Amino acid sequence: MSTFQAPKGTYDLIPPKSGVTLAVREAIAAPLKNSGYGYIETPGFENVELFSRGVGESTDIVSKEMYAFETKGGTKLALRPEGTASVLRAALQANLHKLGNLPVKLWYSGSYYRYERPQAGRYRHFSQVGAEAIGAEDPALDAELIILADQAYRSLGLRQFRILLNSLGDKECRPVYRDALQGFLRALELDEDTRRRIEINPLRILDDKRDAVQKQLVGAPMLRDYLCDACKAYHEEVRELLTAAGVTYEDDEKLVRGLDYYTRTTFEFVHDGLGSQSAVGGGGRYDGLSEMIGGPALPSVGWALGVDRTVLALEAEGIELELPATTSVFAVPLGDEARRVLFALVTELRRAGVAADFSYGGKGLKGAMKSANRSGARYTLVAGERDLAEGVVQLKDMESGEQTPVALVDAVNAIRERLA
Ligand code: AMP
Repeated sequence: MSTFQAPKGTYDLIPPKSGVTLAVREAIAAPLKNSGYGYIETPGFENVELFSRGVGESTDIVSKEMYAFETKGGTKLALRPEGTASVLRAALQANLHKLGNLPVKLWYSGSYYRYERPQAGRYRHFSQVGAEAIGAEDPALDAELIILADQAYRSLGLRQFRILLNSLGDKECRPVYRDALQGFLRALELDEDTRRRIEINPLRILDDKRDAVQKQLVGAPMLRDYLCDACKAYHEEVRELLTAAGVTYEDDEKLVRGLDYYTRTTFEFVHDGLGSQSAVGGGGRYDGLSEMIGGPALPSVGWALGVDRTVLALEAEGIELELPATTSVFAVPLGDEARRVLFALVTELRRAGVAADFSYGGKGLKGAMKSANRSGARYTLVAGERDLAEGVVQLKDMESGEQTPVALVDAVNAIRERLA
């Protein structure tokens, strides 16, 4: 193992590509910030119980993929595999739900950890931006979140994504369906692992990617036919609101998702250019989660969008984001005196809000101009002894190659004017 090798299933974000990741995070956050969502940050690890009770003991995420460990003090913790349980835990701890202002709308951005088999688009450390609306049962809230995710993807220029929509029913109708499905599944020829699944998490079998399983699922009872009137009406309202907002979606009655806490509305954003790891984001309603982790009844809805896969989706569609230039002005001093003067000028430019950088390390003119080129700066400032004696610096336009002397005392203003 090389010392400089990132752990398996992880990768580093490195400039200039890291700029794309930042821009993606910002693009996903922007519609949320504009819609009443407040920023929340929770620890990277939690008591392991939060996830086993919240996400569900029977899910792959908890049973196979969680980075769980015991501290030296004997506390059982886990690196967070997802965001919703932590955000809800934090909201309950801070009593946000008691401030008389429901729903509590929160957004977050951070790193998540799952011990998965790494492949393109699937990592052991990945990044999500998510949103949760806690404490209200209102189809408009479900619709709002889907609309905002759609807006975020569109603002990035993405077009080849689809929205899959389903309802998982509630605590009245889902158990009835679960029984019916279990009855059907028990009669099939399935391997032992899958048979075990029938008893703990039968809905997940609908999601099984294997042909041999899918063939046997023809004629399986479908949840749609078991939804109670309240769930049906709720789902219909969500669908109508999306349609009215001009958001297209596909009804997908097999969409189950891998977490136990979902009820009613569930959705996934899939991108058609990503191969097998096509889900770029997903979410849904989780009316029972608060009670599952020991809180009061707080019907809620949320989503998480994968930043890594959104970046891959941009690549798949050949979209190049217009990133703001990191450096507008690059200073190249010739000699010690110029070094002090230009360093002071760069400091002044930065304080005036101009993105400026400096040639460090005592490079000669040629090497320094190379750095200026690489920085992508629009202007280079060059000054030697003679310029300083005349009270000027040379301002070189890196696009036209044209060079003009500007008075040192007026340099900041002159540069700001040109950049405006
Ligand atoms: P989930 O919490 O599984 O619904 O995941 C929400 C989103 O996070 C997915 O749609 C992916 O974009 C992203 N995601 C989940 N797991 C991974 C992973 N192992 N590697 C990269 N992205 C992931």
